Amino acid sequence: MPPLPSMPPPAAAKPAVNAIGLGKTDYKGLESTLCNGCGHDAISASIIEACYEYGIQPEKLIKLSGIGCSSKSPAYFLNRSHAFNTLHGRMPSVATGALMANHLVNAVAVSGDGDTGSIGLSQFKNVVRRNVEMVYIIENNGVRPDQGTVLGDRRPGSGVEAPARPERDAAD
Ligand code: SF4
Repeated sequence: MPPLPSMPPPAAAKPAVNAIGLGKTDYKGLESTLCNGCGHDAISASIIEACYEYGIQPEKLIKLSGIGCSSKSPAYFLNRSHAFNTLHGRMPSVATGALMANHLVNAVAVSGDGDTGSIGLSQFKNVVRRNVEMVYIIENNGVRPDQGTVLGDRRPGSGVEAPARPERDAAD
């Protein structure tokens, strides 16, 4: 019986790339140092996926954030992009300035419930009022009342009890 013809070696699989020729790893960031299972990492993974799928050029994107666990997360996606980690609650004004100075970049901002809804509420209202063109993601880990600047969150029945502060109550 004649020998069977040998099969040609399988062609090496080409790495998957998007419309601008980049692979998923081109959109990754540093290894996350957040707690295992933290939801912020799931959001970072979705940002990587979306930027890959839409063929966003990483160098034409700026990442902005304030302070807090969520605001650390831009380190964990889009390593090749520009980044600015600002003061607590002050990211919107930095984003406004950055986008006024450079109209050619897309902006992705990440902020927490405290960074946006407590210490940064005034800045957040103004960035909405000015309709600054950016993707603004608020990641809520539910610790906003702990920042102590929104006492309304600590009303009886709100689910969060205020710590005993007799000197404040005496002054009320
Ligand atoms: S938001 Fe909570 S789970 Fe996530 S890193 Fe911070 S402390 Fe850990």
